[in-house]
Amino acid sequence: MQEIRFYNTLGRTLETFVPRQAGTVQIYTCGPTVYGHAHIGNLRTFIFEDFLRRSLSYLGLEVTQVMNLTDVDDKTIRQSNEAGLALNDYTATYIESFFEDLDSLHVERAEHYPRATEHVPEMIAMIETLIDRGFGYVSDGSVFFRIAADEDYGRLSGIDLSNQQRGERVASDEYEKEDARDFVLWKASKEGEPSWDSPWGPGRPGWHMECSAMSMKYLGESFDIHCGGVDNIFPHHENEIAQSESATGKPFVGTWIHSEHLMVDGAKMSKRLGNQYTLKELVERGIEPRAVRYLFVSAHYRQKLNFTFDSVAAAGKALERVDQMRFRLGSARENGPPSTVIAAAIEQLRKDFAGALANDLNASEALSAVFQMVRDVNKIIEDEAVGEGDGERVFAALADVDRVFGVFDPTAWQADDGSAEDSLSDEAVENLLADRQAARQRRDFAESDRIRDELQSQGILIEDTPQGPRWRRG
Ligand SMILES: [Zn+2]
Repeated sequence: MQEIRFYNTLGRTLETFVPRQAGTVQIYTCGPTVYGHAHIGNLRTFIFEDFLRRSLSYLGLEVTQVMNLTDVDDKTIRQSNEAGLALNDYTATYIESFFEDLDSLHVERAEHYPRATEHVPEMIAMIETLIDRGFGYVSDGSVFFRIAADEDYGRLSGIDLSNQQRGERVASDEYEKEDARDFVLWKASKEGEPSWDSPWGPGRPGWHMECSAMSMKYLGESFDIHCGGVDNIFPHHENEIAQSESATGKPFVGTWIHSEHLMVDGAKMSKRLGNQYTLKELVERGIEPRAVRYLFVSAHYRQKLNFTFDSVAAAGKALERVDQMRFRLGSARENGPPSTVIAAAIEQLRKDFAGALANDLNASEALSAVFQMVRDVNKIIEDEAVGEGDGERVFAALADVDRVFGVFDPTAWQADDGSAEDSLSDEAVENLLADRQAARQRRDFAESDRIRDELQSQGILIEDTPQGPRWRRG
């Protein structure tokens, strides 16, 4: 088995990844807070996590992934109140929207999607343990984590809270704490807020508590990988470690992997700049989810990625190069023995591809291996040297790498965009192509061009080959 290396945020070094149990990997990924549609910055993180899961599976590990749904917090409560809906009715819309986005982007489903509201007893039990062990204290019906009791606090983020004044009240904080640094484990509910009964009175769990309790329920007290966006490192993940390790006395997570921010037009996304696009907004502007997925998986997860309408168009163009090769290869006449050039290109791809993934998910290196094969195959097609079975072998190699990238099979993406229903039938295309051939034969090029344009406007791409015209749906 290939050695896999990841950049572990805990310790900030590139290190060899060793799963706790050989042949398997357990991953916890912080999921969406379902108070609105996910913006593309959130989606970058979810696509990265999909890429991680697919890569580990490609490298031979059996993956168990958990992603929580935060369906109760300040935002969901406020917005559902404003909408005049029960919390569950309000969040149902956005949970559905979230799964629609995942499907549109061909993100594989995790094994578990636990909801916070369905795991309150587990959270209460963990908070009780923290109180028993001296890490939690009750104040006005809320429970707080006592940071002063945790010597290791700050290990993940490197934050040093020691120079913050103890006892200083944070202006926005409505609860009474011993120490300004302490964070909430359980929040007493206010009038009109949804609440759960607890030993400390009616309330609801703090956000960090959700992830500690749900990850341990599904993956155990210690597990392999925990992911999120870089903005989760502090305070969310730091607090998860503090709660979990204080409750169990065991190491919580071996490897922390964080994906960088998505920028839009060179700027941070913000409501104020109006650049917090959702996937649905991009689709309305004619952008294909396939190009969005390609753009997001093509950049290394530890680099900021700048989303622009040009960059997503360039992603579409890159995919077009692969589509063109597929199409030309599918139409090429296979002649004589298999091409040794193609055999070598496929072999090289296999080797380089797995090596790139195992090296801290080096997506650009993995993609350049794919495009090297595309170039090699194109050359053989131009030389009319495609041999028996070469087409099948190249398609199989592409399908193999597509287990990770999930973008190289155009038919897999056409099936779900509904375009097949409203475009021309195969028979209609064949008839128009026959008309075009007839026009060419009588040298009526204006007419043959007109038919080609008409077909193109219907999304039909034509290529003239020595064996006659070939077509496909673009
Ligand atoms: Zn989380």
